[in-house]
Amino acid sequence: MTTKEKELKQLTTTISQCSKCTLSTSRNNVVVGSGKITSQLFFIGEAPGAQEDKHGIPFVGRAGKLFDTLLNSIDLNRTDVYVANILKCRPPKNRNPKSNEIQQCTPYLEQQLKIIQPTIISPMGNFATKYCCKKFSKEFHNISSLHGQNLPISINSKPGYLIPLYHPAAAVYNPNLVDAMKKDYILIKKLLINFE
Ligand code: URA
Repeated sequence: MTTKEKELKQLTTTISQCSKCTLSTSRNNVVVGSGKITSQLFFIGEAPGAQEDKHGIPFVGRAGKLFDTLLNSIDLNRTDVYVANILKCRPPKNRNPKSNEIQQCTPYLEQQLKIIQPTIISPMGNFATKYCCKKFSKEFHNISSLHGQNLPISINSKPGYLIPLYHPAAAVYNPNLVDAMKKDYILIKKLLINFE
């Protein structure tokens, strides 16, 4: 087992036993994250929904199918990228994350970022983008104005990029957004080619 694998395994055990907030009392499964732990590309979603809570894996419901389509459009799939959420447990009835939940849960995300060490961080949707803008001292506007921008950042003291994206669920409700989303993914693809 590599050092990264060991660290992530240990972190997974810790997160799975978490009872820091009340979401731990209503969850079926903790959704830690999934994908390639050596990936350059780290996607951040908002919180698990019903399907994710049932299976313990991020983005396996309707939004997840769209996420897969977008990844496939740039010749990637889940095994090429790492995906985690701001919250690791499902908020009841998929309500918005509360600020105390974000505060208590995001140290886990920070540890995931330290272990994976991506070069590109792509927050999906308003909650994840707001969190990342604060973390990397970028001005937050709503996702409609920030999506597809390539913001230079330092990740664990190395140069990297913050590329905010629409949340895939947005296209479930507004299919007209799919073309704009695909354009944003092309930007990611172009950056990845530069690292090869
Ligand atoms: N929406 C998210 O933000 N994350 C998931 O894992 C599923 C749906």
